[in-house]
Amino acid sequence: MAKIRVTVWNEYRHEKRSEVVGDLYPEGIHGAIAGFLGTDADLEVTTATLDEPEHGLTDDVLAATDVLVWWGHMAHHDLSDEVAEKVVKRVWNGMGFIALHSAHFSKVFKRLMGTTCDLKWRGQGEKERVWVVEPSHPIAANLEKDYFEIPLEEMYGERFDIPAPDEIVFMSWFAGGNVFRSGCCYRRNQGKIFYFQPGHETFPTFFQKEVQTVIHNAVYWAAPNNRPQLTFGFHEPLEPIE
Ligand code: ZN
Repeated sequence: MAKIRVTVWNEYRHEKRSEVVGDLYPEGIHGAIAGFLGTDADLEVTTATLDEPEHGLTDDVLAATDVLVWWGHMAHHDLSDEVAEKVVKRVWNGMGFIALHSAHFSKVFKRLMGTTCDLKWRGQGEKERVWVVEPSHPIAANLEKDYFEIPLEEMYGERFDIPAPDEIVFMSWFAGGNVFRSGCCYRRNQGKIFYFQPGHETFPTFFQKEVQTVIHNAVYWAAPNNRPQLTFGFHEPLEPIE
């Protein structure tokens, strides 16, 4: 079986501007994610960041990406509309897209959803309990319990203005009383999309085993099916119509 080609994309601004974030993620958030995914020999993992030419997402890179993992926060508007549109079209054509944490407000995710994707938030850090609500789902594989806890996370709360997900894999409770649909699956034409809420830049969330397990599972779930390009429009009958 061919390796799944994963590109981990990150804004990579917080790490350079904040000492706290830089110390926490010395290789960048993309480096941390690529680090644990890269331990799987069946994945071919590369990274790309906002300030590279074409944001690191040239046509060649996108064509050679099976699953794109996305972390962005403070600079969604610095991503060119042209590149955002190319990413959206690649998703429609089968590339998997994993939107992490504040990627809910990225141009790509909002365009794929068609809604504001707005939510309630509170950034001081509080306990989050992530409940598995669809245990048979492949993205919940290998989690040991019905829930896992993240000691400190940014609260994201309902209402989360997304279209009704095709599947909700995780729902979260926060110490401050809010709840959130924290793991949501979508299909858009040939592409699969997973939104996963944990991952605020000032907390070591991406070093937590359960979070790594979920993202690893999501890469396999979102990988494209080996299928030809779809065609639309006028279609010749397969045999004469009597
Ligand atoms: Zn955040």
